[in-house]
This record gives sequence, structure tokens and C-alpha cells, in this order.
Amino acid sequence: MKEQIQAELRQLEEKTQKRVLKDISFFDDPWIVMNGRKLLNLASNNYLGLASDERLIEAGCKAMRTYGASATASRLIVGNYEQYARTERALIKWKQAEAALIINSGYTANIGIITALIGQDDIVFSDWLNHASIIDGIMLSRAERHRYYHNDLNHLESLLKKAPSHKRKLIVTDTIFSMDGDIAPLEGLVTLKKRYNAILMVDEAHSSGIYGEQGEGLAHYFRLQNEIDIQMGTFSKALGCFGAYVTGEQWLIDYLMNKMRSFIFTTALPPAVLGSIEKAIEIVQTEQERRETLQTHSHYFRHELKKLGFHIGESTTHIVPIIIGPNDLTVRFSERLQEHGIAAVVIRPPTVPEGTSRIRFSLTSSFSKAELDWALEQIACVGKEMGIIP
Ligand SMILES: *Cc1c(COP(=O)(O)O)cnc(C)c1O
Repeated sequence: MKEQIQAELRQLEEKTQKRVLKDISFFDDPWIVMNGRKLLNLASNNYLGLASDERLIEAGCKAMRTYGASATASRLIVGNYEQYARTERALIKWKQAEAALIINSGYTANIGIITALIGQDDIVFSDWLNHASIIDGIMLSRAERHRYYHNDLNHLESLLKKAPSHKRKLIVTDTIFSMDGDIAPLEGLVTLKKRYNAILMVDEAHSSGIYGEQGEGLAHYFRLQNEIDIQMGTFSKALGCFGAYVTGEQWLIDYLMNKMRSFIFTTALPPAVLGSIEKAIEIVQTEQERRETLQTHSHYFRHELKKLGFHIGESTTHIVPIIIGPNDLTVRFSERLQEHGIAAVVIRPPTVPEGTSRIRFSLTSSFSKAELDWALEQIACVGKEMGIIP
């Protein structure tokens, strides 16, 4: 068995698909030090620069001093210390929701929500490019699975039409797709879910904090917050903390609290995390300028990359891929970028389809315009040197 596994690892290496960890030390946001080299960080999910915010750190310390370093048990046992109620109240107010539940991470939230709601006798419709945690939840649920072509409402409708009307049906989608930076057609999805009596779940991991007047997410941005049954999102990206949430009607939250295994059978989040989340929710509602800066940066960055001749797919957000194709070329591109002082990650199969390996850039409001211009210069320089752009 050991030999087989080692052979598999060698195969990954030959296909330049073997992953290794890099040592990171934080320097001065948005700069990091990776393997000893100072780099501008175009790879983090800290979209609003909140992860190093003194107010979040202070709130986390305060909660830890009050409640200790650990929750000591799951929430349904004795882990539901007061900070949970405070943070969930803030969350409900922010999202203008009937009810909400904080869950330990986005990954365990998706697995838990999906397996709680659907089983063997049910049907799930999932966008082709949904996040791995959604895919894993679907596999674990053992429901009949239909993947519809990415953002293709016609294909989804043709699948919904064929589904027996008495069966429980769940449609699930990312709101912003994590490897492409494009947006799901939420209005059309709401129309279809009503027409075919399905429930609709959205994953706002990349849009929470960024879209909507107070950063509530894309459901609010499109004014569909009362039409989308299950709104899940994370505190681990734009909010600069850790953990996830789900909001919806009271029956949904009551049900999840009783049925969701990844909520029931795990220790509650540590107090420090809950303290920081409460503060992040407060800041994200009031500091509109962070969102505006991020939008301005994103628009400029996409526009300039296109002008240079890069292929950036359908991105309309702060997640911007440069699609290159072959693994080895993409890996070399990212290595050269690192030598030029840019941290950018390679995304390879199986995360994306074969032949669409890419560099995935993500922006943050912490960049200055000068830093962004400097990054674009380095990217242009490497792109030309490698013959990717003219
Ligand atoms: C990051 C991400 C998750 C996982 O969230 P974590 O809190 O990091 O576990 C889930 N869904 C999507 C779309 C994501 O991008």
C-alpha cells in the first residue's frame, strides 16, 4: 500500500500537480513574507483588510479574557456561552433575517446544511462550478445529483422539468464563483425555484461584506433576500475572522440545529473568534469606503489586464483569473511573478477543468493605487517575457 501511495505522489509531481505548503509570515498588510521573500499579496481572501484590524484583535482578546481560550463543548452541550447570542443578534440585524445560526466553518456549514436538508429520496441541482464543500455535501447526502452547466438557466430548467413533482428539490449555487470571479444569475434562479417548487440555497462566501448597501451580500444587492430560502456565508474572507453563518426563516434554523451533524458533533468556536466576528459585523456595516475602494481597484485591475491582452474569463468582481491553460506554463508564470515580488496562486485541475490552469488573483481594499499599478507592471513584464501577451 505504501508503494502504491508513493507512486501516486510521484505521478502528481510529474503532472506538476503536487501541492506543498509554503511558510508565510505577515509583514505589513497587503505585504507578506513567503519563504523568506517579501511579496505583495494578491492571493488572500482578506478582501477588506480587516484581518489585521486592531479593533478585531482587541475584541477577540476581550472575549477570550472573559470566556477563556476554548468553548469546552459543543453548543448544544455547554459550549453556548453568552458571546454566541450577542454575535448572532448582530448577525440577524445585519442580514435582516428572521433567524440565524453560526457554524464553525464554511466547509462544515455546506456539508451540514445540505446533508440535513436532503437525502436519498431527494434531488439536488448544483452549478457545475460550485465550491468543493457544496460538492462534498451533495455526495454525502446521497441525493440524486444533477449538475447544470455553469450559470445556464436553460439547462437547469430542462433538468427541473424532468424531475418528479412530488420530490424534494434543492438548487444550490455560489453567488460569486471562487475560481472565475463571475456572479450567479440570482433573479433567474429565484424564478425557477418558484416555478418548480424547489428550495434555493446560496453560498455568499466571496460576496458577504462586499455587496449590498451594508455588505449583506448579493442576495440583498439584488433585493432577493426574502426570496432566497437559505443564505450561507463565511466570516473567514471579507470579514477577516473565521467561521460561517446561515440565515433563513425560523423553521429552517430550528431544523438545522436539530439535524445538522457538523453543528451538533463539534466543539463550539473559541470565544476570541466570536468576539472578533461581532466587531467585524459592526465595522463592515459602517465602513462603506472599504467596499468602494475594493470595487474601484477591481474594475481598474480587470480593465488593465484585458487591455494588456490577458484572458480573464468572465470575471466582474475582485476575484480575477488569468487563464493560461497548461499546468507547467502556469506554474512557471507564478514562479516568475514571485521572483518579481507578487504572491499569486496557481489553480490547477482538479480544482478547475483540465486545460484551464490559471493564476487566481484576489484584490483587497488595503492596496494603494501605486501598489496596484506596480503589480500590473510586474504582471505585464512576466506575461511578455513568457509570450503570453504580445
Ligand atoms: C472559502 C469557501 C468556503 C469554505 O469556507 P471556510 O470558512 O474557509 O471553510 C465555502 N464556500 C465557498 C464558495 C468558499 O469560497
